[in-house]
Amino acid sequence: MDSRQSQAVVVGGSIAGLLAAQVLSRWFGRVIVLDRDELPLDPVHRKGVPQSRHGHGLLAKGHQVINELVPGFWDELVGQGAVTGDPHQDLLWYNEGNLLKRGPSTMTTVLAGRPLIESVLRRKVSPSIELRPRTTVTGLLEKDGRLTGVRTEDGDLAADVVVDASGRSNRGPTWLKELGYESAREDEVNAGLVYTSREYRREPGAQDFIGVLSGHHPANPFGCGAGAKEGDRWLVTLVGLSDVPPPVEPGAFEDYAARLDGPEVHRLVTKAEPLTEPVRYRIGPSVRRRYEKCSRLPEGFLAIGDALCCFNPVYGQGMTLAALSAQYLAECLETDGENLTRRYFGGVAKIVEPAWALSTGGDVRFPHVPGPRSLKTRFLNGFLSRVHRASAVDEVVGRRFVEVANGLTRPETLFAPGMVRRILRNS
Ligand SMILES: Cc1cc2nc3c(=O)[nH]c(=O)nc-3n(C[C@H](O)[C@H](O)[C@H](O)COP(=O)(O)OP(=O)(O)OC[C@H]3O[C@@H](n4cnc5c(N)ncnc54)[C@H](O)[C@@H]3O)c2cc1C
Repeated sequence: MDSRQSQAVVVGGSIAGLLAAQVLSRWFGRVIVLDRDELPLDPVHRKGVPQSRHGHGLLAKGHQVINELVPGFWDELVGQGAVTGDPHQDLLWYNEGNLLKRGPSTMTTVLAGRPLIESVLRRKVSPSIELRPRTTVTGLLEKDGRLTGVRTEDGDLAADVVVDASGRSNRGPTWLKELGYESAREDEVNAGLVYTSREYRREPGAQDFIGVLSGHHPANPFGCGAGAKEGDRWLVTLVGLSDVPPPVEPGAFEDYAARLDGPEVHRLVTKAEPLTEPVRYRIGPSVRRRYEKCSRLPEGFLAIGDALCCFNPVYGQGMTLAALSAQYLAECLETDGENLTRRYFGGVAKIVEPAWALSTGGDVRFPHVPGPRSLKTRFLNGFLSRVHRASAVDEVVGRRFVEVANGLTRPETLFAPGMVRRILRNS
């Protein structure tokens, strides 16, 4: 296939779809992004991304990779008012009730609302990418084992490669089944989480931090992620379990914050001026679609972002995994040859695996969450508890944990002999 002569179609014009399109535009003559929703250039909430009113942390690895794929992303985001800082020095982080000891590092974090991140991406991707809003994809077209295009409500569209980037509620497996292929196996873990979020006015510099993360845990299921964002605002997202969801009634929202580990968020929400009403989002299960395990797939089919794997969002991995997958797609396209579909799914599964293990391993700490609790998972959770206790007193351990949590260092580095000694000594 001469890619320059060929056409790629991306289903979904959100974060993952835009990143995939950016990569494909280097190899394909024409790249068309279809989305059933509007695709505004301005940072506004839209129907197709209901999660956008809730806190979205972009890991340090995520903004690095996005900036490599989409040059100018960082500068534009910061230029539009996103707040930057050092994730080890400028964030307060409570893990299982232990406040991580802060200290200076060379890492950077950027805090912005989800609509701003998407709008900056949409503005900065290659102008050769054709964006078609208000176009709903209803199925795939195939001939002799290769995809030939997509079906939309407005008619068929030819394509040599189709990327499913249609998010959590995607229908990729159903579309493949309609063509006579097996449905990909789906691994699922339901943490039963609810988010409720509210924005407040922020006076820059009034606090010596730009964000607070208070992880929910079995001993205190009341959690929170509060972060500064563009427009001198705090976006406060309360996290809870579905049997005691964070309330949407103003007043009750602020009272709930009193039950968090650490007093800072409660102090903040009881003093700052609220700018929006609280809004709630019930988070569905984390789902990993195992396309790499399918015995047969049509050549030219790819999936990325939440359509491939959606995680428990408290770990802030979704956008970063979309970026890493797009980066891996570029690697696959660089190596000429057939079997793009098989090569991509085989390799991307290895990128998804550690993030999936972290997210689902953390979820099964809660007795109400059904799912496998292997010896390895129980050992790792026990070890992580020690990391959290040590991080409260040992800046070096804390920094390593922040690096790992930001995807900058592999989790195995927490097991380096010197590090294990510090963790054991200080926990
Ligand atoms: C409450 C919540 C909080 C989160 N917090 C974080 C966080 O802190 N950090 C982080 O990195 N990630 C977070 N995530 C995950 C993050 O939102 C996603 O990983 C990220 O938006 C990338 O998603 P996506 O592009 O794959 O899909 P989405 O952003 O969901 O977009 C899917 C797109 O596909 C379109 N579409 C759907 N079906 C069709 C169709 N049939 N035809 C055409 N178009 C279609 C939709 O209109 C939409 O534009 C969170 C998720 C939730 C639910």
